[in-house]
Amino acid sequence: MIIANWKCNGNKEMMFSWTADYERECDDNDTFVGVAPPSIYFKQFCIENSFLNILGGVQDVDYLDGSRTGAISVDMLTDLDCGFSIIGHSERRQIFNENNNLIKEKLKSLNNEIITILCIGETKEENDKGLTKDVLKDQLEIVNELSLDAEFTVAYEPVWAIGSGLTPEPKDINEIHKYIKDVVQSNSANNLSPKVLYGGSVTDKNAESFFNEEFVDGALVGGASLDGTTFAKIVNIFNKTKEL
Ligand code: PEP
Repeated sequence: MIIANWKCNGNKEMMFSWTADYERECDDNDTFVGVAPPSIYFKQFCIENSFLNILGGVQDVDYLDGSRTGAISVDMLTDLDCGFSIIGHSERRQIFNENNNLIKEKLKSLNNEIITILCIGETKEENDKGLTKDVLKDQLEIVNELSLDAEFTVAYEPVWAIGSGLTPEPKDINEIHKYIKDVVQSNSANNLSPKVLYGGSVTDKNAESFFNEEFVDGALVGGASLDGTTFAKIVNIFNKTKEL
């Protein structure tokens, strides 16, 4: 599973060239590929890429509808056949002050409706203090006693690795992914072991080192997904590595 998060980047022209570059580079494969463009371009993205095996998704959602200026609700996503929603991205937590209570409401409203990709991750300071597992366990509390959709997915994104060119060692990522799977499995009502994606400075140069690890089920890609050729290369690498 390879997911692109375009964040607040892109425009109409970029989308045309992205699709052409992706199509040219991507080998035939059955990897689950999703792209979350800015929501305002969601429909255009889906139309332009309808001949490709790519699911359109969104970067965030609100948990209610009605008098909530600027919000997009789960019902609206369902109406437009949206394939997935990211929630809990560290930029939402840090810039928009989103906390676990709010992210839990989002998870509950998406659960069993639209595939949820829950982002979690520790800061550099927390990592330095050896608090990574504690922080992740706190962020994962929102799954406690929920019966999770079979496709519920977690993205492990160390905040210090996002857009920095820095990454943890692949073997450390593997250990954290196993931990995340175990925590979700023990705490969710239906004991679901989720897929876990790695996110944070993934490129076509380092992707294979992550995909070689047993508990890495794919990647959430930010900066490198803005280029259709590079993103297609990452998809190809995933397909080859996990096929073996
Ligand atoms: C992200 O912000 O979700 C992300 C993974 O970004 P980047 O790949 O640019 O580090």
